[in-house]
Amino acid sequence: MGKRIVIALGGNALGNNLPEQMRAVKQTAKAIADLIEEGHEVIISHGNGPQVGMIQAAMTELTRSDPEKYIPCPLSVCVAMSQGYIGYDLQNALREELLDRGIVKGVATVLTQVMVDHNDPAFAHPTKPIGSFMTKEEADRMVKERGYDVIEDAGRGYRRVVASPRPQAIVEISTVHALVDAGLVVVACGGGGIPVYATEGHHLKGAAAVIDKDFASCVLAQQVDADCLIILTAVEKAAINFGKPNQEWLSDITAEQARQYMAEGHFAPGSMLPKVQAAVEFAESKPGRTALITLLEKAKDGIAGHTGTHIHA
Ligand code: ADP
Ligand code: MG
Repeated sequence: MGKRIVIALGGNALGNNLPEQMRAVKQTAKAIADLIEEGHEVIISHGNGPQVGMIQAAMTELTRSDPEKYIPCPLSVCVAMSQGYIGYDLQNALREELLDRGIVKGVATVLTQVMVDHNDPAFAHPTKPIGSFMTKEEADRMVKERGYDVIEDAGRGYRRVVASPRPQAIVEISTVHALVDAGLVVVACGGGGIPVYATEGHHLKGAAAVIDKDFASCVLAQQVDADCLIILTAVEKAAINFGKPNQEWLSDITAEQARQYMAEGHFAPGSMLPKVQAAVEFAESKPGRTALITLLEKAKDGIAGHTGTHIHA
C-alpha cells in the first residue's frame, strides 16, 4: 500500500555550491524516484543553508558595489530565491529520472510562505547556521566587518547564524493539497518556507529569518495528513553519546524515549536536535504516524524498515 510521505532533504542532498548541487540532485532524484516507483505519494521539502547564504552574500556585495542603485535584499526574498533555484534543480533532475524509468508524472515547486510569530523570542537569539563554513579567522572578520552572528557548528567549522522562529502555518497549504491530490510530485516549504507574519489587513510581511526545515517539514507533514515524515541527512541513524566511545546508534524508539534522550542532551542543537524534535512531534500528532531519520541513499531501505532511526508514538 502506497503511503503519503513527506521527505525533508538535508544539506547533503543538495551540495554546497552550484556544480555540487547539480551533481547531488541526480542522486537525490534517484532516492525519491525509488519511493515514487514503489507507489508512494511524495511531497518534498528541503533545507537551504548554503544556498541562502550564497544568495545573501551575493546580494550584499551588489549593494556594496552601488548602495544608491541597489538597496539591501531582505533575507525573506533571499529565501524565496533559494526556493526557486533549488526547486528548478529538483524539477529538472526528477523529471529526467522519472522519464528514464517510464514514469510520467509532473513535478511542481510551490513557492511557500510560512507564518511565524513576530514576537517569537528567536528573533532576539540567532541560532540557524547559513552559508558556507568559515575558519576562525574568517569568522572573526565577518563579525567585525559585517556584524554577523557566528557560531562553531558541530565541530565542523564556523558559520553565520540568523534568527530561526518556529513555523506556525503554511500559507499555500491548499495549493499544495490540490497538486498532491492531482497526482503531482510537489516540492514545498523549501528552506523552511519564506518566513512571513501578519500585519494590517490581509498583508503578510517578510521576516528577516530562516525557518528550520525540519520544523517546517513537520508542520507540512501534519497539514497534508502524511503517514510518514522522512528526514534524509548525512548520518544513517541518530545516536546517543554521539561521537563518544560509548556511542550507540538508535534503530527504533518511542517518542517518549526520544524525549528522554533530548532532555539528556544527546542531540546537537541546530543539527540533530530539530530532526528528533520534528520526528517526535509528528509521531505524536495522530495515531499511526511515524517518522524516520536516515541517510539519503538509504531512504528505500529505511522505509522498508531495514535501517535508519524510526520514531513512533
Ligand atoms: P541537514 O543538512 O541534513 O539538516 P545537519 O548537519 O543539520 O544536516 O544535521 C545532521 C548532522 O547532525 C549529522 O551529520 C551529525 O554530524 C550531527 N549530529 C549531531 N548530533 C547527532 C547525534 N546525536 N546523532 C547523529 N548525528 C548527530
Ligand atoms: Mg540541518
